[in-house]
Amino acid sequence: MRHSGDRRLAVRPTGESFDVVILGAGPAGIFSALALKGSGLRVVMIEKGPDIGRRSCPMQVRKSGCNQCSPCMLLCGWGGAGAYSDGKLTLTTSVGGKLQDYTGEKALEGLIEQVDRTYLDFGASGIVYAPDEHVFRNLQRQAATADLILVPTRVRHLGTERCTEILHRMRERIEDGVEVRTGTEAVEILVDDGAFTGIRLNDGSLIRAKYLIAGPGRVGADWFVSEIRRLGLTLTNNPVDIGVRVELPAVVMENFTDHLYEPKLVYYSETFDDHVRTFCINPYGEVVAENSDGLLTVNGHSYAEKKTELTNFALLVSKTFTEPFREPIAYGRSIASLANMLGGGVIVQRLGDLQAGRRSTDKRLAKGMVRPTLEQAVPGDLSLVLPYRHLRSILEMLEALDRVMPGVNSRHTLLYGVEVKFYSSRPELSHVLETKIQNFFAVGDGAGVTRGLVQASASGLLVAKEVLAREGIAA
Ligand SMILES: Cc1cc2nc3c(=O)[nH]c(=O)nc-3n(C[C@H](O)[C@H](O)[C@H](O)COP(=O)(O)OP(=O)(O)OC[C@H]3O[C@@H](n4cnc5c(N)ncnc54)[C@H](O)[C@@H]3O)c2cc1C
Repeated sequence: MRHSGDRRLAVRPTGESFDVVILGAGPAGIFSALALKGSGLRVVMIEKGPDIGRRSCPMQVRKSGCNQCSPCMLLCGWGGAGAYSDGKLTLTTSVGGKLQDYTGEKALEGLIEQVDRTYLDFGASGIVYAPDEHVFRNLQRQAATADLILVPTRVRHLGTERCTEILHRMRERIEDGVEVRTGTEAVEILVDDGAFTGIRLNDGSLIRAKYLIAGPGRVGADWFVSEIRRLGLTLTNNPVDIGVRVELPAVVMENFTDHLYEPKLVYYSETFDDHVRTFCINPYGEVVAENSDGLLTVNGHSYAEKKTELTNFALLVSKTFTEPFREPIAYGRSIASLANMLGGGVIVQRLGDLQAGRRSTDKRLAKGMVRPTLEQAVPGDLSLVLPYRHLRSILEMLEALDRVMPGVNSRHTLLYGVEVKFYSSRPELSHVLETKIQNFFAVGDGAGVTRGLVQASASGLLVAKEVLAREGIAA
């Protein structure tokens, strides 16, 4: 156990002092907090959004349009982007991030197991979608005949409503042992002599601490990257994923979704040989808009109990930019902003209209078989928004999908744009996710190392264990 006379006295005396600052109350930050709670360390959590009981996204609650809240209620606050997420826990090491590159596969398996157990303890559902070998091989064979790679996955589905219940319980558990400050934004990371010393908040005050666990999520990635640059740390470009959200009758995909819930399919486009993939499939779900620092992009989710007749999923084209280009986030944002400029928000288009080279209109949408679940999406023309390379690759993958799930490439299928994943740049990190600055750790989606709830949670857990080990505290 830890003794007095410890190293925490090494931090500079000005400002409030803690042992650990956790930046961001998304899954990454929460799992750090859960692991550090009760350790004797003084831990403070800084979150720019509101507490879980005060989060209220108008699109989720009243099904009305996006109010462009600042910060975005969908993405910010206790629970992070995970709060209103679909709660699909992907329990496979190869999906949902790059943690494996840091920890190795065996260690990641262990972390994922621990994360899954924790979600179960807090009330996650017991259902895991993992088809038997025979069924999976059959689906894989069908996919292969259409040039599609079916990636094996195990998924536990919580559903959006259960997700928030679990987050409420986690919040209660943390109450005693971790100081949570919501509505508080970190604006500067402070470093002295190669080691982390504290953070500056938006009200100008300082928090001094020995350790920083930074999990700003995708919504904070822009700010985080600019801090990383300011501190002179090296960044690696991650691919930028840009594409559309597809919505169609759920029956069309049931031959895959009934067995796998979320079939992960990868395709290399014929014309450009670009990597295209399905992402975040929501059987019987809804499409939602999200506000990323004033930019409206599209996403989707589904409830455990409440079902629609439609399934939605993203088709994302990955591009990795090489030197001298250093602004992948700006590139993604600029494409998303074209959709916002033309449609005032998210654009929706019937696939048949896109193929015929005309925009969708309210009248044309009304004749379609699929009614958009995102009602405030504006009918428009995605060919004016997406680069030719992306559009071509998406159309080719829709054709390939149609061969295994007839009906995907129907003229009635809806495409919403744009969906952008800002995984962007990653700081150089050690095997325990420490930056080159001593005691400054970067976790979750904002650090570019994860892309989903499970790996984000696992990254927070990994770093908390490291902090405990450095302090000589048994995990
Ligand atoms: C609609 C939707 C559905 C999704 N569905 C799924 C799914 O089914 N399965 C899945 O695996 N993943 C899903 N995801 C993705 C998943 O939610 C994220 O991968 C996960 O939340 C990332 O966790 P994180 O802790 O890294 O970041 P986040 O959850 O984004 O949390 C980061 C937090 O940091 C805060 N923050 C940022 N900057 C600052 C700052 N400067 N100061 C203070 N606070 C700051 C933000 O307000 C935010 O609350 C979904 C995402 C969305 C939006």
